[in-house]
Amino acid sequence: MSVLLDIAEPGQSLRPHEVRPEERKRVVGIDLGTTYSLVAAVDIQGKPACIPDDEGRFGCPSVVCYPPEGGVVVGEAAVAVGTRYPVDTIASVKRTMGRSLEDIRSSGHRSGYGVEAGDGGMVRLITSHREVSPVEVSAAILKYLAGRAEEALGGSLHGAVITVPAYFDDAQRQATKDAGRLAGLEVMRLVNEPTAAALAYGLDQGCEGVYAIYDLGGGTFDISILRLTRGVFQVLATGGDSALGGDDFDHRLCEFFLQQSGWDHPTAEVVQHLQALARQTKEMLSREEVREVSLSRPSGESMVVQVTRESLERMIGDLVRKTGMACRRALKDAGVEAKQLQGVVLVGGSTRVPMVQKFVADLFGREPLADIDPDQVVALGAALQADLLAGHSSAELLLLDVTPLSLGIETMGEIVEKIIARNSPIPTARSQDFTTFKDGQTAMAIHVVQGERELVADCRSLARFELRGIPPMTAGAARIRVTFQVDADGLLTVSAREQTTGVEQSVAVKPSYGLSDEEITRMLREAMVHGEEDWRQRLLHEARVESERVLSATGAALREDGDLLDDLELKRVKGFMLALWEASQKEDHEAIHRAREILDKETVFFAERRMDRSVRRVMTGRKVDDFQ
Ligand code: ADP
Ligand code: MG
Repeated sequence: MSVLLDIAEPGQSLRPHEVRPEERKRVVGIDLGTTYSLVAAVDIQGKPACIPDDEGRFGCPSVVCYPPEGGVVVGEAAVAVGTRYPVDTIASVKRTMGRSLEDIRSSGHRSGYGVEAGDGGMVRLITSHREVSPVEVSAAILKYLAGRAEEALGGSLHGAVITVPAYFDDAQRQATKDAGRLAGLEVMRLVNEPTAAALAYGLDQGCEGVYAIYDLGGGTFDISILRLTRGVFQVLATGGDSALGGDDFDHRLCEFFLQQSGWDHPTAEVVQHLQALARQTKEMLSREEVREVSLSRPSGESMVVQVTRESLERMIGDLVRKTGMACRRALKDAGVEAKQLQGVVLVGGSTRVPMVQKFVADLFGREPLADIDPDQVVALGAALQADLLAGHSSAELLLLDVTPLSLGIETMGEIVEKIIARNSPIPTARSQDFTTFKDGQTAMAIHVVQGERELVADCRSLARFELRGIPPMTAGAARIRVTFQVDADGLLTVSAREQTTGVEQSVAVKPSYGLSDEEITRMLREAMVHGEEDWRQRLLHEARVESERVLSATGAALREDGDLLDDLELKRVKGFMLALWEASQKEDHEAIHRAREILDKETVFFAERRMDRSVRRVMTGRKVDDFQ
């Protein structure tokens, strides 16, 4: 880690270290992808290369099968047996890493195996005869790749760098790290995939300027804006969509196949087969203009349909264009314009789709860099990073990454107080002081959340704990310093400490994913027993007071300026008012907030008209001169 914190002197050349072959550590970079995973290592000349399997294939399908007769099958073999045991075959496990059942349902992912809620809100995957966690499944893939590397490098591994999408939140990173540990790997570091790609292109060496890394893989889309100066690079901004990729192209084509062949209620086997066929067809259409595919109908007979590149482009066009929004936003976050970019790098198998390449070229107004195989580029960069961390080269490099989402805590009224803003360079630590709101209060509930929205309900809950033992004081006298610390892997630690009296008590929490930790579980339980009900009642009360205020203000506005609305508009506004009143009768403060937000939103136009009217009133009777 200390290697990373050394900043290269300006202009200093980067020379390889004199490390004797026998002193070299066996370290690898692993791209743990949604659809394909790869392992790479740096050779003695300092060149990174992906390590193939016995048949010369680099990419290992990120598929794990647990056949009913026992054992674990990974990669190509899992794909092969998977058609026989679709319910026991787990693909795209990355989408479930560090995620709850709710997250997964809302992403609308279709799969043969079942999912259900497990410990700490994390999902469990259900096959026909066993239950596994996403961490276990990912560990199986990592172990398989590590085994491949150990064979090639002639001994057990000393460490690995594993890549994650820039958009991965804390729980997802923690889950990935745990998967590495479960696979018996020393996880030297987690690196963002786009950052690894930039390293593979050697953009850190002499290529000054700002670059965009456009990564469209199987399951995720990431856009990163990097600035490179004198061998040092900084991630200015990241963005993307954690549920958009080539899998979605496959789904579109698969839907088309289902519709063409007349399946209303396809079995898991049929879906899996058509999904595979869709992917194959899509990939062929990157090279050819037209494909013919044979589909079997529910009746058992088969039919041939023709798919052209153009028709595929119509099916996926909106998905491709959707990436543009995230790109523009990332540029804005980074404070640069497309024309100021030095270059654009293509990453991910889906950037082989001609339409994607054309879209990127148009969007950024230049031809993107694509010399390095977009499937391999992330693993190659990870290998370079591992090599660096192992001390094999003296390339001193400061990798400044950023937090993908804001981190904060819940304050009164269900509002998020952001402590570390989105896109802050990491590692970082920031503190903020809070105080008690009641006389004699001796405990304070701390709810750590991640996300951009203002309301707690719209953010991801990472952890809850309670700081106890605050000496009784009048409200507002205690000083509780809450410190957020994000390490180089992007993992968060939160601590709280009472300052004024010198009585110190600090508690560190890991994200809720790591809740197996006994201490945190106990704190959680305590917080729930003591604080939850009070807290809920308080929020409910506040929400009701607020809804009363809004209803009476809206009522007054209608009495005064109701003539600004036509009948239909008036009816709508009254409908939203009624909905808010009804919500406020229930015990659910979140429902009240939602109803209030809707009313707020739906009456913006009314407020604007009232504003216009009052401005006009003020102006009437005055001369134009008065306003100049
Ligand atoms: P991930 O990192 O998410 O695992 P990859 O970068 O390996 O993804 O990309 C996998 C995706 O790329 C899959 O959806 C796959 O179908 C797609 N892909 C690979 N080759 C091609 C190709 N020639 N044309 C179109 N898509 C491709
Ligand atoms: Mg990838």
